[in-house]
Amino acid sequence: MRKRVAIIGGGVAGLAAAVRLRDLTPPSTELIVYEQSGALGGKLRTGRLGGVTAERGAESFLMSAPDGSESAALALVRRLDLEDELRHPAAIPAALAIGGDLARIPGGTLIGVPGNLAQVSSVAEPATDRDRDEGRPLLAAGEDVAVGELVRGRYGDQVVDRLVDPLLGGVYAGRADQLSLAVTIPQLARTARVEHTLQAAVQTAQAEAAARRAPGRPVFGALDGGMSRLVAAAAAASGARISLGLPVREVGRTRDGWRLVLGAAPAPQIDEVDAVVLAVPSRAAAKLLTGVAPEAAEAVGVLDYASVALVGMAFPAGTELPELSGFLVPPSEDTLVKAATFVTRKWSHLAGPGDRVLVRASLGRAGEAGRLQFDDAVLLERAHRELSELTGRPLPAPEETFLQRWGGGLPQYTPGHLDRVARVRGALPAGLAMAGASLDGVGIPACVASGERAAEDVHKVLEEAA
Ligand SMILES: Cc1cc2nc3c(=O)[nH]c(=O)nc-3n(C[C@H](O)[C@H](O)[C@H](O)COP(=O)(O)OP(=O)(O)OC[C@H]3O[C@@H](n4cnc5c(N)ncnc54)[C@H](O)[C@@H]3O)c2cc1C
Repeated sequence: MRKRVAIIGGGVAGLAAAVRLRDLTPPSTELIVYEQSGALGGKLRTGRLGGVTAERGAESFLMSAPDGSESAALALVRRLDLEDELRHPAAIPAALAIGGDLARIPGGTLIGVPGNLAQVSSVAEPATDRDRDEGRPLLAAGEDVAVGELVRGRYGDQVVDRLVDPLLGGVYAGRADQLSLAVTIPQLARTARVEHTLQAAVQTAQAEAAARRAPGRPVFGALDGGMSRLVAAAAAASGARISLGLPVREVGRTRDGWRLVLGAAPAPQIDEVDAVVLAVPSRAAAKLLTGVAPEAAEAVGVLDYASVALVGMAFPAGTELPELSGFLVPPSEDTLVKAATFVTRKWSHLAGPGDRVLVRASLGRAGEAGRLQFDDAVLLERAHRELSELTGRPLPAPEETFLQRWGGGLPQYTPGHLDRVARVRGALPAGLAMAGASLDGVGIPACVASGERAAEDVHKVLEEAA
């Protein structure tokens, strides 16, 4: 009998699930992607600035998986025949903005955690007497801690405040003292359960990574034409029916499937399907799971998010910027700007001779949503002022700008997150699977992989029922 599968959430996780389901299920299986907003893509959204494409959300993805194989994002790009559109950042250093200077980010660290303390002496003074071998591994089997807790105790505050915090903040907009080691630096969590000092744990993790590194594969990839091309190509390849503009409000059970309630309460629309992939952020997921998997709803609902805003500015051709791809700002500098990318330096395919100079800045950190509650003009003016101060040169007035808010955009994985995710997956009823950034990681590869895993899970259940 013809089957129907609902994918709730049209971000990259939902779309990856739809593509994988298309590849696994018979052509007669109907796939429906329900996206509450007016467009697919979620946090992948490409706009325009200064005459070229400009990312208003995610900019690029890791090309390799932690085990050294190609990442799920790269594999999806290949599956969608977009390989020729891959672009890679220029090999230019990035900096840390500390005390009015732009200091190069020291190389050879694991998200700011050094294996050799001398490597970071240009930006931080590590404690040299604390990383002692106490006759046992740093962490017990299965133990998870906040990154800050481990690193402060062994290397002192400066390494965390000046290096680890801004580097983690660049990805999560979160703080080292709250973020889970096991989620954000998993390779270090693993070696910390074996090694007796932090330096040894970092060195072992780095040696393992070096042994697995695929020679010649760049670290990051982006797409010419922008991330929205990935979104459009995935939607097309999935052959899914796309329902835009109506939130799914409720998921319930039928005798042998699922019943979705969509749209506004006064005029609800009902749809019945055989299986569901739930690929929405945690709060929405918790709400939809309440009736059908209360234990999973509770565990997933614990996850908190940081709000951020992205600002894009196109400056007149010839505007001088430092010879950097951009910079990160430690929270201790107390700026609203937490990171900036010199877009036309970093991405050569976006720069032409005589073109405008593009800068993208990220504003806001976890727990500081109130600092973004100003109108766009105020935030743009503040960002422009801070960018001038942080680059040490007065920037001209931009000729074009955008401001993109991502309220609750970035999950904040606290210690124990992976155990909670295992509980969530264990508590989901057969035929309902979850995917997306609320589970295994924030990056596009992790979201794609979770979508594909969810697709495989529901496919298996459909097969067994057939
Ligand atoms: C500013 C920013 C920059 C980033 N930069 C990068 C980067 O450079 N590289 C990288 O790898 N990652 C980056 N990320 C992270 C990455 O983009 C996201 O983690 C990822 O795209 C999330 O995908 P998702 O499908 O899980 O969720 P989302 O993209 O959030 O998609 C979920 C979708 O579900 C929809 N939805 C919610 N509730 C309902 C409902 N009830 N019914 C129907 N639809 C619903 C939403 O409207 C949304 O479209 C960035 C994130 C942000 C915010």
